Formats: sequence, C-alpha cells, structure tokens
Amino acid sequence: MTTGGRQLTSILDAPGAPPDCDLFGLWNEELSERLSDFGLLKYRIRQLETALYRQKVSDIRQVTTWPKELREQVAAAGFRVGLPEIVETFRSVDGTERYLIAGQDGQTVETVWMPEGDGGDNGDFQGSGDQDAGDEDGAYDSDAVVSKKNRTRATICVSSQIGCAVHCQFCLTAKLGIIRNLTAGEIAGQVAAVLKKHEAEPGRDRINLVFMGMGEPFLNYDAFMAAVRLLAGPMEIPESRMTVSTSGIVPGILRFAQEKVRPKLAISLNAPNDAVREAIMPVTRKWSIAEVIDAVRQVPLRQRERVTFEYVLLGGVNDRPEHADEVVKLVRRAQFPAKVNLIAWNPGPGVPFTMPDAGDVARFQARLREQRVPAFVRRPRGRDIYAACGQLKKTGSGR
Ligand code: SAH
Ligand code: SF4
Repeated sequence: MTTGGRQLTSILDAPGAPPDCDLFGLWNEELSERLSDFGLLKYRIRQLETALYRQKVSDIRQVTTWPKELREQVAAAGFRVGLPEIVETFRSVDGTERYLIAGQDGQTVETVWMPEGDGGDNGDFQGSGDQDAGDEDGAYDSDAVVSKKNRTRATICVSSQIGCAVHCQFCLTAKLGIIRNLTAGEIAGQVAAVLKKHEAEPGRDRINLVFMGMGEPFLNYDAFMAAVRLLAGPMEIPESRMTVSTSGIVPGILRFAQEKVRPKLAISLNAPNDAVREAIMPVTRKWSIAEVIDAVRQVPLRQRERVTFEYVLLGGVNDRPEHADEVVKLVRRAQFPAKVNLIAWNPGPGVPFTMPDAGDVARFQARLREQRVPAFVRRPRGRDIYAACGQLKKTGSGR
C-alpha cells in the first residue's frame, strides 16, 4: 500500500511544473517572496521585472541594473530566469511562423506568429473591406488611433496545455490526449520568446494574443489567468488585445465572469444543435449549448465588446443552409452582442472529415448575414506548416 501510494504520488508529480528556481512567471510579491533570502528592496524587484519582462534576458547575469555581486549570488543559489526557448521554427509561404518552444524539462509546446497586413484588417480574417475591423482593431482600446506606420502588427497564438483532454473529433491536438498543464511562466514565456525573436515591443507594436493554440485554457484555469495578469501587467499587452477560446467549460466560464482583468471571450460552438455537437464535441454531453450560453450571459461585457462564436465548417456535417438558420436562432436567443467566426476545417492526418466547398462557406456566411448575424470567414494561416487552427500536434517535421 505504501509503495503503491508512493508510486501514485510520483506519477501525479511527474507531469508537474519545472523546478521552482525559475523566476520567469513571477512578479511583484511573488518575486520578493521567492527571493526573500536576499532581502531585496522594492526597487531591486522592479529592476528584475524590467529585465525579465521588458528586456527578456535569458540569464540572471544579464540583469545589468543589479550589482554584479548580487547577480552572482542569486545565480549561485540556483535561481534561473527560465525563459522558454525556441528550439525549432517552421516558416509558411504566407509569412506565418510556427515554433516549438521548450520549457526547462525539455517538453515542447507550439506557438504561432501571424504577421498582419496593413489593410486595416485583422489579417486573421478574409477580405478587408466589410468586416468588423473596428472590433478586431480594439475599438474600445484608445491606443488603436496612434499612427500605424512602422509598427509591427501580428497575432501570436498561444498554447495553454501540452495536448488536450477534450476529445473534439476534428482536432489534431486531441489526438495527443493531455500530456501536462503549462505553468503561467510557460504560457506567458511563449509570448516573451516570440516577441524577443521579432524584436517586437507591445508598447510600440500592435500585438494581439489569441489563446487558441494547444489545449483548453479553462481546464488549466489558474495558470492561464496568472499568465494573463503577467501579460497585461509587466508585459504591457492590453487585455483588449487578447482573446481566449474555450470549448465550453462551464465552471471556467463562470469563474472568468468574475475576473477584473480578462481577455475577450470566444466560444467554440461548431454545431447548430446539441445532437451534431455531441457527435463532434463529446464535451457537449457534460455541458449543453444552452448551459454554455447561460454561463456566457454572466460575463459582464465591456463597451462595444462582443462574444465570438467560432464555427469550424466540416464538409457535409454542419455546413448546410438549415444549419446556418439554427445558428441564427442560437445567437438571437443568446441575447448578448455576438459575432460568428467561420473557419473552414483544416485537414490533419488521421482526422476523418472533409473540407467544406468554398461555395458552401460563402453561402453559410451570407445566410447568417442576411439574418443580421455578423459573420466573418477566418483566413487559414500557415496550413502548409501545420500551424493553422486545430493542426498543432508537436510535429517535428511539419507533418
Ligand atoms: N481548446 C480551445 C482553444 C484551442 S482550439 C477551443 O477549443 O476553443 C482553437 C479553435 O480551433 C477552436 O475554435 C477549434 O474549434 C478550432 N479548430 C480545432 N481543430 C480545427 C481544425 N482542424 N480546423 C479548423 N479549426 C479547428
Ligand atoms: Fe482541445 Fe480545442 Fe482541440 Fe477541442 S478544439 S481538442 S478543446 S484544442
């Protein structure tokens, strides 16, 4: 029994966080506490935060605002920065880059960089003239009016777990199962590593974050929200430039509704009714569409904020005109400001669906719009390097 107990403990411990000598991921009191042996004054902590989150140093010895002696002492005590490292890069013909980023235990996660055009569109959406660029451009975020010249504009797609426990039938990540949760430092660290690579600065450049990489953010809620606070705090990315997508984890949505600092919310609807959704997203058996929508209704929306319903179009499964009519009814019944983002399914090896016809995608969008439901078609990014939605699966060769 004792042996069994010990084994169980070590199994439960095994997929946990890297050792707690990593400083990246901590700020404010957390940093003071972790380094309490050194009796650092507040300004020393602030200097360290600047080095970690603005300069993005990868070694404590690079914290040049600290006396050399202090740096040596902290390093000698075993503390590390622990900034995750890009170990592999895949470049798409469309400019998208997919990275494998390694944490301290060598496990890799996937992160995607999507540069955006200058047309005023989000770049993540098709066309440019008639979509809700205002919303995507951060209409309730006053810095959107600053001159756009010479600014890097990109969206970073961030992972929240390695693998995923939600078995959506159309998603390649689902095939991995859940390997482990990421820590707050590992989630925010993906953003830091990618910003550093592109020499991008959130204060100057227009950086959007979407928590739509590997994993279900609301099944790693505490680490995910701690990462959001870090990103919105010392990393200076406005929360209005962040969007989190969930497959509809109701307890997570209810907690999210209480948050003061939070990203915008996207719900992976993907089906016109519970029957179709259950077949492609078994999580529907736990929480029906109506229960998810009820939970979303608890989220106090900011001025001009809309909830996004994501809808992956699967050829012949959920892309018929009558499905569009059902989606219209769902959105109307929701009674909160919403829009629908249509995503043509991205294929992956061993995933048994077909892509929808381009004509069906356009008809689906038109049918929603005719009934006054705002609907946009997401442009697939980096399909050739398996960087598009639902294609992330720790593939070394891009295959
Ligand atoms: N786990 C979260 C966030 C990551 S998935 C969620 O499911 O919401 C991000 C989006 O990609 C979701 O809307 C999901 O429905 C979509 N997606 C998954 N697999 C896809 C695929 N093969 N093609 C297109 N979109 C996909
Ligand atoms: Fe997980 Fe999202 Fe993929 Fe579903 S779509 S398996 S929730 S990553």
